[in-house]
Parts: sequence; structure tokens; C-alpha cells
Amino acid sequence: MNVSVKTPSAGTMPIDHVSITALERELKGTVLTQGSPGYDEARTVWNAMIDRRPRLIVRCASAGDVIKSVQFATAQGLLIAVRGGGHNIAGNAICDDGLVIDLSQMKSVRVDPEARRARVEPGATLADLDRETQAFGLAVPTGINSTTGVAGLTLGGGFGWITRKFGLTIDNLLSAEVVTADGKLVRASAKENGDLFWALRGGGGNFGVVTAFEFELHPLGPTVLAGLVVHPLADAANILKDYRRIVKSAPDELTCWVVMRKAPPLPFLPAEWHGREILALAMCYAGDIKAGETAMAELRSLGKPIADVIGPTPFTGWQAAFDPLLTPGARNYWKSHDFVQLSDGAIELLIDASHNLPGPECEIFIAHVGGAAGRVPLEASAFPQRDAHFVMNVHTRWRESSMDEAYIGWARKLFAAAAPHASGTAYVNFMPGDEADRVEAAYGNNYRRLAGIKRRYDPANLFRMNQNVRPAAA
Ligand SMILES: Cc1cc2nc3c(=O)[nH]c(=O)nc-3n(C[C@H](O)[C@H](O)[C@H](O)COP(=O)(O)OP(=O)(O)OC[C@H]3O[C@@H](n4cnc5c(N)ncnc54)[C@H](O)[C@@H]3O)c2cc1C
Repeated sequence: MNVSVKTPSAGTMPIDHVSITALERELKGTVLTQGSPGYDEARTVWNAMIDRRPRLIVRCASAGDVIKSVQFATAQGLLIAVRGGGHNIAGNAICDDGLVIDLSQMKSVRVDPEARRARVEPGATLADLDRETQAFGLAVPTGINSTTGVAGLTLGGGFGWITRKFGLTIDNLLSAEVVTADGKLVRASAKENGDLFWALRGGGGNFGVVTAFEFELHPLGPTVLAGLVVHPLADAANILKDYRRIVKSAPDELTCWVVMRKAPPLPFLPAEWHGREILALAMCYAGDIKAGETAMAELRSLGKPIADVIGPTPFTGWQAAFDPLLTPGARNYWKSHDFVQLSDGAIELLIDASHNLPGPECEIFIAHVGGAAGRVPLEASAFPQRDAHFVMNVHTRWRESSMDEAYIGWARKLFAAAAPHASGTAYVNFMPGDEADRVEAAYGNNYRRLAGIKRRYDPANLFRMNQNVRPAAA
């Protein structure tokens, strides 16, 4: 089975050392080439399936470095990849042969507590952002794994534990500074370059390299009510039907996601449950602790849980709660669908698949979105699906390359079987590298406008190492 996705055609002209030295002299950051110390580390991303060898990695230290890198790649005819946190399942942060604009060293997060705003550089992780904002009791909604990059997450949309209360990450984006394909730095906001601002909010890295994000912040925590209730998978049918009913009328403050997998050896689980099939309800209340206890009561009263470990928790800790299960270095393949409703058929199918997980690190996630994110009009941003309240993400995860076929085949089979229950759109940030032909459907009604904006800002499709929107024909 061919699973490794070759990067789109790259320039093959040799690059002479004089040009590289001249580039280096102009930069605040550094250039790594094959053989440089640190090259292998710099080309390694979260998903160990990705093993690509760019010719140059420019470790940018400023927007000026990004401009020089875009100009250099254009002059040399090199394919460009852009690296934020390097977490994307598709591995688009790294290309073969071309030039990687590596933003991972640009990590500054500056909070203005009076204005409730944060200016964030594109190498910051969710942990970097939460650490700074929570120092002021403020937060911006992001995702559930603290080592994820703010940049890629934001450009695709971004949702997590406090999205139902405060909206998607992009709903809190006030402005962005972007280096476009012509090597110019522009600002995009509701008032400046409005079409670019629309496209950046969901359209991924298609429109340029974002060198700074400005977010609106909200008071939160620093302690929230959060944790897990763990059930035997055998009880999943009843639990999931009750879950579906309860979350339908849940307050925006309450978010509860479902994880079905084999139990990891967590200290709060009785030893006899380690390795056995479980369903976990993972929940967080973005508000007052007492109100959270009331809001969670019905979900916590379901069935006969193996463990209930919900309590007041530092928000930054809860944001990192899943990190130990999602460490870099494993082989990963994901398949995702948007569901407007969690139908009986979908529930049955997902439970059945959870009884047949191919390995101990595989899991099926059901994210519950909606709330404030669902009340934003579809046409307000490029994010394609405001009605989908549930997002299925099949995390297939293993260690040995000899097992690629078995694991990937399992995920694809489940994905195909679940398709009749799904809306047809998809979250681009959960799409693997072999779904290039799904991008148009993923964006649904927003694709046409995105393609038009792509033609305006990147007519030659310079930025194509992403879930690629092709420039509309002239
Ligand atoms: C373990 C794990 C958990 C996750 N959980 C969530 C979750 O809870 N919620 C959620 O919404 N998402 C989640 N995601 C998905 C995540 O949003 C995407 O993987 C996202 O692309 C990661 O961003 P990054 O900057 O780390 O990735 P990268 O791999 O660095 O980049 C991803 C894409 O964005 C482009 N890009 C990156 N930075 C820039 C920039 N500055 N300018 C232009 N283009 C850029 C890249 O070229 C690439 O195409 C999760 C991912 C992982 C691996």
C-alpha cells in the first residue's frame, strides 16, 4: 500500500553555496542544509510517518527573514513548506528537496491585559500561549494537546475545551500579519484586506506566511472544573445515547468529548482495567466551579463508571492532560468526518470499530463543538461547517512501519462505513496527506470564494504544501 505522500514537484536546479551564504548574511536567523548539525531534528515533525529531506531549512527569527526566504525560494524555483508547530498529521510543514520556512523559533507571546489582547508569533505552541494568557487569568480557545502549534491550528479553525463558550480560535482572531507570495508583509483584519482575513480564518496556509496573530482574550480560571469519567466500552451504546441527549441542551460553558480506546495504565484506573476497552467522557466547564458541578451532574450520573476523576484543575494542566497519549515519534494516520447529528447508525458503527481497534494506542474521538462556534454565520469566515456539532476523529497510531497497511486499512474502512452518516464537509486540520482530492468537498460552499482569493494572493500556487486550494481559473 502506498501511504507515503511525495511532496508536489519541486525545483531540481542545484543551489550554489555562494547564494546560500548570501542568504544567510541577510538573515537574523540561520540556514540548515543536509549535513548541518540540527538538520535532522529540524526536519522531524510530530508524525513519524513523515520522513522528508528539504534542501534548505531557514530557521526564521523575524518577519524580515520570512520575506527573504520567500524571495530566495522564488528566485531559485524552490518548493516552499512552512513550519509552525510541526504537528499536522499530513506533514505539510516539511517538503522533499525544497525550502522550509521554519517558524518554530519565533515563539513570543505578548499579552495586553487591559485591552484583553495577545500578539502571538507563529512558532508558539498552545502551551506557550496558555502560559502567558493564564498569568493574567485570560484565555483564547484553542485545542486539546498543548504541544500543537498555534499557527496551523488557527489557520484551519481551531477548537477545544472552551470553544463552545468563546468560539473557534479564528472567531477570536482580530488580525494577522502575513508575508504574501510576492514577498510583501500585509496586515489582514476586518478593516484591512478583508478578503484575505476571511480566507485566513479556516483556509489554512494557502494565502501566505503568517508572522503574527492578534487574538481577543477572555477571563477564565486559572482553575476550571475538568476531568474524566471512564466506563466499560460494553456500556457504550446506552452512555452515548444519553450523552447525545444531554449535550444537546448543555450550556455553552460545558464541553464533553468522547474517547473510545483500550485503557492506558493510568494511576486512577484499577489495574485490572489496564489494556481493556473503555469509553471516557472528557469534560471541562468554562466558568464557575459550583455551576460546573451542577452542569456536569447528569453526565456524571450515567451508568456505573470505573472511575470519575473530575475536580477543580488548573486550566493549563487540563490543556496538557492528553499530552502523554499524544507524544511525537509514533506513526499516525487519521480519518475524520463532520457529523451534524450523532445518529444511531453512527453510534453503532463507532462502538463496533472500538471493539476492533488494531492496536493499544488507537482511539476514536468524538469532539462536541457547537455553542458559540455554531452561532457564527457560515459566510463570516472560510471555516466550512458551523452546523456540525460532532467531529469524529479516528486516531490510528502504531510504531512499526511493517504494520502500516493494517492500521491504515482499518482507519480507511471505518471512514468509508461512517460516510453515510456524515455531512460531507471536513476539518482540514484533521485530514491526512492523501486526501488532496477531498479539499473542495471539505470546504463545501466556501471553496469557490477561497479559490478566487487564492488567485488574487497566490496565483502561481507558491504555497501548496497544505490542504491545497487551487487558484480559480482566470
Ligand atoms: C496530537 C494532536 C492533537 C490535536 N488536537 C487538536 C484539537 O484539539 N483541536 C484542533 O483544532 N486541532 C487539533 N489538532 C490539529 C491541529 O490543529 C493541526 O495539526 C495543525 O495544523 C497544527 O498546527 P502546527 O502549526 O503545529 O502544524 P504545522 O505542521 O507546522 O503546520 C500545519 C499547516 O499549516 C501551515 N502553517 C503553519 N504555520 C503557518 C504560518 N505561520 N503561516 C502559514 N501557514 C502555516 C503549514 O504549512 C501546514 O500546511 C491536533 C493535532 C495533533 C497532532
